Amino acid sequence: MTTPVAVVTGGSRGIGRAFVLECARRDLTVVLTHRGRGNDAEETVRAVEELGGRAVAVVADVTTDEGVAAVVTAAAGLGTVQLLVNNAGILAHGELDETTDELWDAAFAIHVKAPMKLTRALRDDLAASRGAVLNLSSTGGVVGSVHGVSYGASKSAVIGLTKSLARELAPQVRVNAVAPGPVATDMYSSIPADEQAAVENETPLRRIADPSEIARTGLDIASWPNVTGQVIVSDGGRVM
Ligand code: NAD
Repeated sequence: MTTPVAVVTGGSRGIGRAFVLECARRDLTVVLTHRGRGNDAEETVRAVEELGGRAVAVVADVTTDEGVAAVVTAAAGLGTVQLLVNNAGILAHGELDETTDELWDAAFAIHVKAPMKLTRALRDDLAASRGAVLNLSSTGGVVGSVHGVSYGASKSAVIGLTKSLARELAPQVRVNAVAPGPVATDMYSSIPADEQAAVENETPLRRIADPSEIARTGLDIASWPNVTGQVIVSDGGRVM
């Protein structure tokens, strides 16, 4: 039997790292992509090895054809891809007047175009293994993002992509999305304590998700055999 492989884009840190670790706990060999900055990827690979798993880090800009090809090559050397987690993202902060063409294009390239191209490149493996794709949207893509026009628009497009691919790739491949609200990543911890308290106070469940919770939720959805084309919001009840 061929080794089951998961591809996690942007898997070096933050929510992506949590996805990588959760994949390892679920006995998947992981190809993680990152942009080659700092030691995050090495630390993530080491953490997987401490769990007794295997992960390979690939420096790849997944918005480019070369980056997509590098991911496909790395995965082919390990086994058959049965899960693709399109996690890589950028903050793309900016209101309407701050939304340059560059910012808009960058947000759509990483949030929408890269998941489409990776799904296409890995489709045969995913179909052969009756696998799944999990896309990262955001509550900003469900109800809009006040300070991020290109972020909100591209994260909404992730939902359209998810539903369209779910229709096209059925019955072999299931395609779903998770839409987190605020998550306790380094970025969140860096905002002032009073602002964090305000966010928590306006959250019905009075809590902020840990990255591991997003990863567990996402991988659970991806494993459900009768669910495709769905977007699960994980945000403590802010969006109902
Ligand atoms: P992060 O900034 O900590 O990590 C992003 C990762 O994506 C990094 O590993 C980076 O190297 C990678 N990446 C970015 N552009 C890339 C490219 N072109 N090619 C390859 N890799 C690339 O982000 P995070 O906070 O962990 O968020 C992960 C995902 O979850 C993103 O899609 C984000 O939009 C979404 N999300 C995050 C939050 C939150 O509160 N953190 C909330 C909702 C949705």
